[in-house]
Amino acid sequence: MEFDFDLFVIGGGSGGVRAARLTSELGFKVGLCEEYRMGGTCVIRGCVPKKLLYYASDFSKSFETSSSFGWNISDLTFNWEKLIKSKDIEISRLEKIYHNNLVKAGVKVFNTRGEVKTKHTVQLNSGETFSARNILIAVGGYPSIPNYDGSQYCISSNEVFDLKVLPERILIIGGGYIACEFASILNGLGTKVLQLYRGRSILRGFDSEVTNHVAQAMMARGIDLQFNKEVKKISKTEAGFLVTISDGTSVTVDLVLSATGRTPATKDLGLEKLGLTLGEVGEVLVNEYSQTAIPSIFAVGDVTNRANLTPVAIREGAAFVRTVFEGKPTEAIHSSIPTAIFTQPEIGTVGLTEDEAKTKGPVEVFVAKFRPMSNVLSGNSEQILMKILVNQESQKVLGVHIAGAGASEMIQLAGVAIQMGARKEDFDNTIAVHPTAAEELVTMKLPSRVS
Ligand code: NDP
Repeated sequence: MEFDFDLFVIGGGSGGVRAARLTSELGFKVGLCEEYRMGGTCVIRGCVPKKLLYYASDFSKSFETSSSFGWNISDLTFNWEKLIKSKDIEISRLEKIYHNNLVKAGVKVFNTRGEVKTKHTVQLNSGETFSARNILIAVGGYPSIPNYDGSQYCISSNEVFDLKVLPERILIIGGGYIACEFASILNGLGTKVLQLYRGRSILRGFDSEVTNHVAQAMMARGIDLQFNKEVKKISKTEAGFLVTISDGTSVTVDLVLSATGRTPATKDLGLEKLGLTLGEVGEVLVNEYSQTAIPSIFAVGDVTNRANLTPVAIREGAAFVRTVFEGKPTEAIHSSIPTAIFTQPEIGTVGLTEDEAKTKGPVEVFVAKFRPMSNVLSGNSEQILMKILVNQESQKVLGVHIAGAGASEMIQLAGVAIQMGARKEDFDNTIAVHPTAAEELVTMKLPSRVS
């Protein structure tokens, strides 16, 4: 059968764009539709604008400590409107690059929504229908806000990037990546932040020694972070939003940000009509090659709810292309993913947590906790935490976790070491870079404990 396209991609985010470009560059006929802006969550309302806001916020700490290094900065002011304007210009630039790169690679781009009609057909909102040998679902996810009295007043991470004014008081609900990052960003910019998390410590699933350390540091920096609390009701009043909390207390804020997770965007995509069963949270179920139960239909990225991170979606997209269009079955790897959380202080982490590592046998836990040189003159007591987990028997490094300035940059290279199967002696044999904070990673001689 002759198809209109060899591949039709629904969704122009990180995973979909990578797969479309690579396939087209191999000489295949590729179509891609995107209903919103090219670049997806990461570029438009995720990682990229978040990092720009993070940079803006992080200056506040430098300004604070700069006087102990001889600077005299008076009349400090911050202009939110200017930041958002600059951010918008950069996002539009990146959006264009994404679009142009697709076109340059020979991909036919449709700026409209698409829906799967049959195992080989995609129907666009514009009315056109195309046949394709393979269909790739890469539609990502959207923020989910639980339903309760007044929850309609909450904004999500989609809106927080476009606020007209910086709120004076905000309540952030949740203890995950987005909640903690925005609590930090807004606190650094001067907003009074109350963060409520229903659990016992932030960032569930990460190493608890690290998350406890960061939670303490976030509080020391001024965030009112409260645990085991949920929002019961929100009402709109003259003074702002009156929020009733599960412990019976209430608070009035200017804005409520619900950062309570994201849901795969599979609604009305036509998949269930084709007989595909979706997962528990609506995700597309796929095998290790990102293939669904319908052999011609594949899915990558957040819509599959595996590891919801941009670089992972990109890898899944590339592995899909190798498997399907290069004939080299390639699994997308989901272990030892290095990742950073842009809290203040930031976290860089790769490999197993201490609890996970313990399940593989006794673990030597190397911990260094110290005040970085940059904090000494100012008297800032915030410490960096570095943690290396080593399997006692094999001496293999199973995890590296860092909390503190530069953690996100350091962890990329620790990721290389772990990927190569480094043992503790490989770290020990590496000469330290002096004077840095990172040198602690290769100078931890004795374990703090065996776990
Ligand atoms: P997460 O899944 O990380 O966190 C959701 C948070 O909301 C959790 O603390 C969760 O609690 C809480 N929660 C969920 N439902 C409710 C509810 N009904 N009531 C109260 N609290 C609730 O989601 P995020 O929205 O923060 O981020 C989405 C994804 O985006 C992440 O999984 C991450 O992969 C990605 N991301 C990555 C970033 C990075 O790489 N730096 C930055 C931002 C996002 P509990 O823990 O109890 O379930």
